[in-house]
Amino acid sequence: MAQKLVVGNWKLNGSLASNEALLGACCALTGVDVAVCAPFPYLAQAASRLDGIALGAQTVSEFQFGAYTGEVSAEMLAEMGCRYVIVGHSERRTLFGEDDAVVGRKAAAALRAGLAPIVCVGESLAEREAGQVMEVIGRQLAAVQESIGVQGLSRTVIAYEPVWAIGTGRAASASEAQEVHAAIRRWCTEHGVPAAEMRILYGGSVKADNAAELFAMPDVDGGLIGGASLVARDFMAICRAAVTAG
Ligand code: PEP
Repeated sequence: MAQKLVVGNWKLNGSLASNEALLGACCALTGVDVAVCAPFPYLAQAASRLDGIALGAQTVSEFQFGAYTGEVSAEMLAEMGCRYVIVGHSERRTLFGEDDAVVGRKAAAALRAGLAPIVCVGESLAEREAGQVMEVIGRQLAAVQESIGVQGLSRTVIAYEPVWAIGTGRAASASEAQEVHAAIRRWCTEHGVPAAEMRILYGGSVKADNAAELFAMPDVDGGLIGGASLVARDFMAICRAAVTAG
């Protein structure tokens, strides 16, 4: 398995001045791949300040060009130096009405431009309590597979982000995360995707003090980090935990 991948998702946060301080305090480490997903207007700033850390965006248009006011294409992101783009984050699904089919088309757009989509999947608390975790995630993955095929899915990063854990301070336990990650890998294998080398990240209230335990799980290949990626000391501690977990 490749080394772990830690991705910061800044969400709708930052300013030129605060980014400067944050980026200046983040540095590449040997033994872990790190990426930062900045807001669109700050991609150029981040690209110029990141050294050995990959750049990503937080969403992308499903369209390539044309009369789509406000949209940003995958080709534009690639031109700005992005390597990754998050698609299907639960905030996009719930607040902006992006359904499974849209997520699939966005993943296809990312691949078309040579970006690696980070496809977020995960269940709500009600769905977990109803025992529907893999039913929900299987549906989300199937829509993406329908759009990008087995080949495409094997080139994506999957982020398991239980909705009840995002921004709540209540992370999944290491064993809860491991159970779902193993099930996602199984789902991929059963659907013809060579899943042994696929990266499956965990996201949802990862902090400096729980990262080591989560990353020690055999099917947790890294993390997608929201709030803690805005504090350089915490983000770097999470990256170091990924190095130690190997
Ligand atoms: C996220 O936004 O993808 C996320 C995991 O947020 P947080 O780490 O703040 O829960």
